Amino acid sequence: MSCPICGEDSVKQFRPFCSKRCADIDLAKWLNGSYSVPSQREDDLDDEIQDDVEVKDRPH
Ligand SMILES: [Zn+2]
Repeated sequence: MSCPICGEDSVKQFRPFCSKRCADIDLAKWLNGSYSVPSQREDDLDDEIQDDVEVKDRPH
């Protein structure tokens, strides 16, 4: 099984996702009422706690 967010191998702790990050992204998509949102929404999730971190620590 691979992560539905980024396609990486899933981790048992977070399955079907590869990380809490991807799980949070998926949850946020549902909460936003749109599962197919532009990729920049991923950054929005982190903006609250990591204002200066944009792309450099993305999983891919
Ligand atoms: Zn992932």
